[in-house]
Amino acid sequence: MHTAKKYKFKAEVKKLLDILVHSLYTSREIFLRELISNASDALDKLRFETTRGSEVVNPELPLEIRITINKEDKSITVSDTGIGMNYVEITKNLGTIAKSGTEEFLKMVADSKDATNIIGRFGIGFYSVFMVAKEVIVTSRSYRKEDQPVEWRSDGLGQYEVSVSEKELPRGTSIKVLLKEDAEEFLEKWRLESIIKKHSNFISFPIFVENEKINTVSAIWKEPKSSITKEQYEEFYKFLTHDTEPPADIIHKSIDAPIQFNALLFIPKKSDEFFWIDRDNYGLDLYVRKVLIQHKNKDLLPEYLGFVKGVVDSEDLPLNISRETLQENVIFNKIASSVTSTVLSYLAEKAKNDRQGYENFWKEHGKIFKLGYVDFGNREKYIELLRFNSSFCKDETEVISLEEYAGRMKENQKDIYYASGPNREAILSNPHIEIFKNKGIEVLCLFDPVDELVINSIGKYKDYPLKSIENADAKALENIKSDEKESEEKKEELSKDDKKHFSSLLAKMKKILGDKVEDVVESQRLVESPACLVSTSDGLTSTMEKILRMTNK
Ligand code: ADP
Ligand code: MG
Repeated sequence: MHTAKKYKFKAEVKKLLDILVHSLYTSREIFLRELISNASDALDKLRFETTRGSEVVNPELPLEIRITINKEDKSITVSDTGIGMNYVEITKNLGTIAKSGTEEFLKMVADSKDATNIIGRFGIGFYSVFMVAKEVIVTSRSYRKEDQPVEWRSDGLGQYEVSVSEKELPRGTSIKVLLKEDAEEFLEKWRLESIIKKHSNFISFPIFVENEKINTVSAIWKEPKSSITKEQYEEFYKFLTHDTEPPADIIHKSIDAPIQFNALLFIPKKSDEFFWIDRDNYGLDLYVRKVLIQHKNKDLLPEYLGFVKGVVDSEDLPLNISRETLQENVIFNKIASSVTSTVLSYLAEKAKNDRQGYENFWKEHGKIFKLGYVDFGNREKYIELLRFNSSFCKDETEVISLEEYAGRMKENQKDIYYASGPNREAILSNPHIEIFKNKGIEVLCLFDPVDELVINSIGKYKDYPLKSIENADAKALENIKSDEKESEEKKEELSKDDKKHFSSLLAKMKKILGDKVEDVVESQRLVESPACLVSTSDGLTSTMEKILRMTNK
């Protein structure tokens, strides 16, 4: 007989358990999704070990997940024939949280009224079983011959016990869940079946409940488009992302030459509110011949397309390719660049054919997309997909493309003008903009701080340099024909009359301001404001100066 050793849960696990058990009553059924997802991960890992030639205990065992119900002791058991865990692994894996962003997650759950979405987004894992369990007993047998079976048990309160097990286990993990009194609904076979159909239907290993296979659908990305219904696409999307809404876009591609791959990609309706705090979470699932190689691969798509969800499957990659060597694989890199252009072309088509749809896309995902100013290889496509607010828009929500701007530039206008500020109102009341308003010249309004980085990085659109109105060249402006000739002429007369008074006034002002300014000059561009600050023609804009000052601290 081996004695059990007691361990205390790490502090963050205790916090998580406390929240799970006390505040998340309505979404309890997802405990089963989490156990099945772990079983599936363990089977994927085992398959990976086998394909790369590792020696595996009981290699003839089928790869599957089985769920049994015991009405006597009011328990259900979820078993898999996956990779299993040894003593050291089980003690560590089921006692700590390795996931990044856990702190933020816990804070958000504690603050929110309905945590279902948050849970969906994070996937809360093994510990969710304590929403329904008064005790959990995990027995596991690692795939390595030399490892002994182990047993882990806990009531989820503060500690857990681990011991070497006497049981004869072929391989894998078996999780016995002794249900709380108020969770006995999960003893019903139909209830388990409906949860599996809802949350785990696309798991790529068979799931049996009391010897009946429940999940039916498999790799739908490999099937021809025409054979898949909208409902199936949506169901798969929800399975993949845990989103509760259907996706905004579905991109399903099958490419045969020069390299074979299938891609099934989705653009969610809503942006991921946690993208910026949990930057690890984006990426596509990479399969080779229907075998999962990597969850959330980050090299198939650049980060600025990180809002895209989905899977890519190729026949042309070796099954035993390792995650570490993927990036150096020529075929993989070709697939990646093809997937990236697929997404960019899709967006270009959408922008052309569905203005409203594209505007919705931009509103949700534009913030992430803008990060693409570093993608030099796809620069032209990227620039065409950008949207900005402009002085010609009816309000701050409307956006235009640079192509549209260029299409309505004034006669003799050589530059594309932009102005930045904290919001549209501030920009439109900036004295620098007056001459542009007066002449009917369109000005891009940049009020997202990233906009100016984007503009500075791209520098020009086609042959038109992008210029801040603060740095606009007076001569260039003079050459642009005004909408209102009359007001121009009036101004001319006025200024002739005032000319003699100006020079002495300017001299005085210069003396008073001294070193604080480079020069004081008479301006032709102001209409309503008496004076304004300008930077030297190629100088930094005031916002850029602010950004630089901040980062230089
Ligand atoms: P995650 O799945 O996000 O890693 P979980 O809390 O769901 O987090 O699981 C924690 C860890 O416990 C897993 O990463 C895995 O190492 C281990 N684990 C859980 N269930 C199993 C299982 N059925 N077979 C093998 N290992 C498992
Ligand atoms: Mg998990």
